[in-house]
Amino acid sequence: KTTSKPPPLPSPLRFSKFYQSNMRILVTGGAGFIGSHLVDKLMENEKNEVIVADNYFTGPKDNLRKWIGHPRFELIRHDVTQPLLVEVDQIYHLACPASPIFYKYNPVKTIKTNVIGTLNMLGLAKRVGARILLTSTSEVYGDPLIHPQPETYWGNVNPIGVRSCYDEGKRVAETLMFDYHRQHGIEIRIARIFNTYGPRMNIDDGRVVSNFIAQALRGEPLTVQKPGTQTRSFCYVSDMVDGLIRLMEGEHTGPINIGNPGEFTMVELAETVKELIKPDVEINMVENTPDDPRQRKPDITKAKELLGWEPKVKLRDGLPLMEEDFRLRLGISKE
Ligand code: NAD
Ligand code: UDP
Ligand code: UDP
Repeated sequence: KTTSKPPPLPSPLRFSKFYQSNMRILVTGGAGFIGSHLVDKLMENEKNEVIVADNYFTGPKDNLRKWIGHPRFELIRHDVTQPLLVEVDQIYHLACPASPIFYKYNPVKTIKTNVIGTLNMLGLAKRVGARILLTSTSEVYGDPLIHPQPETYWGNVNPIGVRSCYDEGKRVAETLMFDYHRQHGIEIRIARIFNTYGPRMNIDDGRVVSNFIAQALRGEPLTVQKPGTQTRSFCYVSDMVDGLIRLMEGEHTGPINIGNPGEFTMVELAETVKELIKPDVEINMVENTPDDPRQRKPDITKAKELLGWEPKVKLRDGLPLMEEDFRLRLGISKE
């Protein structure tokens, strides 16, 4: 089949380079937890112009308040399941609810966001010749049978479970990325993000670190879901943002795991929060949700070798930074 579409502009003629020396960057989901920290970092570079597209489902506009009105910043209320026409050099595609209670709230919308949203951003990348980075997830490994998880592991995912809208959705998003790369020559980057924590997490989003810190500050028992021996590995948000930018700027498509290999059981996490934040708080064992992965820890050999990246902030140092932010937002000062 012959196509009448012109080829993408050669790189020296790409949009912002055509008009000025700035780099124009789209961040979808930029009002969210990781997205807003990424925007802060990108805005530090005076050569960057940042456009955020977000529908504010799980990210408040308030996370970006310091940039609203800034000449290098633009905020668009936009749902990525609809086409988007902008001219940019890079796309960080983060838009997607990340917390189980939010992504299970409207699972059909979650899978549309992952599939149609990613398709639209790839169509955009193709039209303007932009490089696109997808924030995929460790959930693509499902309940993993290999530990720790290297990028070569294909995963153990339930295709019809209550988490499938998210994990299968991200798996399709990865497939689309590679198909556009192979079929249309799009420059792609895929990060497989492992559990991330830090300031600006939604206080009541149900994720374990935000739950435990909010519970400790409110003097409520910490709810460890059974059996409590399941593990996660927690990466502080500044390390995550640094990894994402290195991946975007580097030469490798990925997928590359970005996460902190320090692994903790949920009981250990509860005990650490108790010790650091409220030594007299109770720890309660409560029922778990279906399909909860039993263990999760990134193999970050690839990130180290290809990106020269590894996390710097230890859990014990990151938790107090998050505590400070939660105290401010909950209005609970330190005794
Ligand atoms: P978040 O929920 O705080 O942010 C997601 C943002 O996307 C929100 O601002 C939300 O309003 C927006 N959004 C959702 N659906 C949208 C749509 N249809 N159109 C436009 N915007 C939409 O989550 P986060 O923790 O910042 O996660 C960001 C990305 O990283 C997500 O893609 C998530 O899957 C991925 N990720 C996060 C973690 C983690 O531990 N936080 C782990 C693995 C992967
Ligand atoms: N798209 C978009 N912005 C653009 C270009 C495309 O949102 O600047 C959307 C477009 O609406 C389509 C999707 O991206 O639904 C895939 O686009 P592509 O050109 O790859 O496919 P086609 O339009 O040929 O189906
Ligand atoms: N979890 C817990 N107490 C809570 C919330 C979650 O023990 O109040 C557990 C949950 O069972 C899971 C782990 O913490 O094993 C991580 O859950 P989260 O929802 O934070 O992230 P994900 O399951 O996506 O890794």
